[in-house]
Amino acid sequence: MKSIWIRTFWILVGLAGLVYLPALLLYGPTAGALSLCVGILLLLAWHLYHLGLLLDWQEGALDRPLPRGHGVWDAAFAGLHRRVRIRVGQQQSLAETLDRFMRAFQALPDGVIAFDRHQHIEWINDRAAVHFALSSASDRGQALTNLIRQPDFVAYLESRCFDEPLIYRGGRVPGLILMLQVIPYGEDHSLLVSRDITQIERMENMRRDFIANVSHELRTPLTVVAGFSEMLSENYEDYGAAEIKHYLSLICEQNGRMQRLIQDLLTLSSLESGAPLGNEEQVEVEPMLRSIQAEAQALSGGKHVITLAVEVPSVLAGCANELRSAFGNLVGNAVRYTPAGGRIDLCWRVFDGCGVFSVSDTGIGIAAQHLPRLTERFYRVDRSRSRETGGTGLGLAIVKHVLTRHQATLDVESEPGKGSRFSVRFPRHRLIERPVSPV
Ligand code: ADP
Repeated sequence: MKSIWIRTFWILVGLAGLVYLPALLLYGPTAGALSLCVGILLLLAWHLYHLGLLLDWQEGALDRPLPRGHGVWDAAFAGLHRRVRIRVGQQQSLAETLDRFMRAFQALPDGVIAFDRHQHIEWINDRAAVHFALSSASDRGQALTNLIRQPDFVAYLESRCFDEPLIYRGGRVPGLILMLQVIPYGEDHSLLVSRDITQIERMENMRRDFIANVSHELRTPLTVVAGFSEMLSENYEDYGAAEIKHYLSLICEQNGRMQRLIQDLLTLSSLESGAPLGNEEQVEVEPMLRSIQAEAQALSGGKHVITLAVEVPSVLAGCANELRSAFGNLVGNAVRYTPAGGRIDLCWRVFDGCGVFSVSDTGIGIAAQHLPRLTERFYRVDRSRSRETGGTGLGLAIVKHVLTRHQATLDVESEPGKGSRFSVRFPRHRLIERPVSPV
């Protein structure tokens, strides 16, 4: 600033020395005054010209290059240029930091909505937009409670007590369960953080149902066993040998039921523990199916026709015990759900490079609405029929787990009153290509 005044002073001294004094000396005081006025006007025009350049520049973007100046204006423009460069740099680094923060918020696995004290949305990340079916662009500026009107949520926001999270159900996205937490920050600003807990809730419900189901399954046989044992121990002399035998056989039957249930639960639990398949064996399909066929015949007691067709003798890579248990369950079900006189056909074939095992029966069949739920634990179409035939409701759940561990799939076709076909398909890599040595 000081240097500008000094320069201006010297320009005025220069004007006086170079214009006014020579004119005064040569042509008198009037000419001196006139030439001084002309000099000052020229100087003013020169300053106005530079001022115009500056005004033009300041109307455009900050990072536009500054015009070139002369004399004092050169120094002024240079100073301005330096300051503009610093400011542009600061703005750029601020924009980069902001962008990094935005990207970090976008990358969060949780939804985040920033809102002000009037609950107007300032910013939404993509995850929150999905959670609440909002648009991160067009819903900005809208009041949160205009868009999310669920009464529990509105009450939560209005309570201003955010120590505990809110479990949010029944929003715009059907079936989605969210855990919401409001986090106030700065002055009158807050973040609404949403976490998808649908899966966790589902698991929790399954766990609760499972415990309830197991307790329910055990209660009936335990009551029978306890009742008859008590009765016999207290009034043994009152009963004849035939009655005692009958009661003991009922106790044994219920014991068997509990044992089967515990055994199936243990199998399921070891399958679900997620331990990877142990040493994979080479399982020869035909001998395994022959022995399953023999067991099925024993279970049927000659009441069914049970056939086996092995179209291509094959070797499967997998766990022999697990495969045996899965195939045995499917065949056992066919026997149990096919009335006497029915037919059960077991078939192994290789189709399109994949191994396919199918069990077809002419039994009671299953209505279409039950098919998607058959492999759920304890799901039964007809509870009493399942119990009568010694079912635990866990057979197909075990089958599903074994097949998943072998990357195989289960397909069920069925018609009530006509019969069912359960088909298991193993992927190519499970079939081992080696000639089976003759027995
Ligand atoms: P369960 O021990 O009750 O047989 P599963 O898990 O093996 O349990 O089977 C679930 C349900 O699927 C059975 O209760 C039964 O209603 C139905 N089901 C399974 N296999 C057959 C079949 N071959 N024919 C008709 N219904 C079947």
